[in-house]
Amino acid sequence: MPPKDATVIATYSRRMRLRFADGEEEEARIKGKKLRPVCGDSVSAEAIPGETDWLITSIHDRSNELTRPNLRGKVETLAANLELVVVVAAASPKPDWFIVDRYLCAAENMHAAAAVVYNKTDLDKEFDPDDVLDTYRRLGYPSIACSAKQDDSLNRLAELLEKQTAIIVGQSGVGKSTLINRLSTDAAQKTATLSAKTGEGRHTTVNSVMISLPNGGAVIDSPGVRDYAPALQTADQAISGYREVREFGANCRFANCRHLREPDCAVKQAVEDGEIDSRRYESYRRTLALTEQINRDRY
Ligand code: GDP
Ligand code: ZN
Repeated sequence: MPPKDATVIATYSRRMRLRFADGEEEEARIKGKKLRPVCGDSVSAEAIPGETDWLITSIHDRSNELTRPNLRGKVETLAANLELVVVVAAASPKPDWFIVDRYLCAAENMHAAAAVVYNKTDLDKEFDPDDVLDTYRRLGYPSIACSAKQDDSLNRLAELLEKQTAIIVGQSGVGKSTLINRLSTDAAQKTATLSAKTGEGRHTTVNSVMISLPNGGAVIDSPGVRDYAPALQTADQAISGYREVREFGANCRFANCRHLREPDCAVKQAVEDGEIDSRRYESYRRTLALTEQINRDRY
């Protein structure tokens, strides 16, 4: 049998679930120890004679990867080939906009589109999320306030996810799984995948899963992105990950300006003039400081 192309739609350690172009789904193992497919990967796979398992023989080039540093200080890939990163914050737990900014920064570096969702509007009626979301909208990020408990507020989120492969990221407890479940018409889909058995008949925990949406989109839910902000390797990534810093930074006196204490810095000027949101600038400085700390720890 000739090899066939498939998409990895769920991973449980070294086992995967594949979806072929015709919509058929199969379980698969991975050939050798070096290949490390992740959810969203496009792979080549072949049937194993006499077995129900398929064998993944190669991974096609990725358009991008979402990564995070693991506990051993190495960079771990969580998902691949993402078109849209949806960053979720909520009324509860208290929103940490710095985490939101770090995810947006990672999305820029991945060359993926990004959007911001503020969930659980039912919980805090005093706070007007548009005060913060407008900052993101001005930067060009689609930004939506919604409540998983109010169906009509989910339409705009469903529209955003149309015909794209997205990943939903954000602090634990903001409602990522709840939102995905509400958007997916096939409620059984996720539960089925999560409790999938391995060939040995044991239940294993799923690492990440791609859920198809009724409007042709798909969204990846990965427990791995829950509590970790993404890996940033260099100061350049911090700089290029903040759209407004990148834009105004083109007019600084020094080409390698880091927009901290340098003279004639167009970014600091823009903050003073109110053209760059001061909270976002603070996030930029913190992100930059973090990359420097990571690099100090490494060498
Ligand atoms: P995750 O960790 O981001 O996947 O968050 P979950 O989806 O597990 O949700 C965490 C908790 O928030 C659960 O108890 C949900 O029922 C609750 N929740 C999710 N969305 C909403 C919402 O819009 N409003 C309210 N009041 N609770 C929500
Ligand atoms: Zn500067």
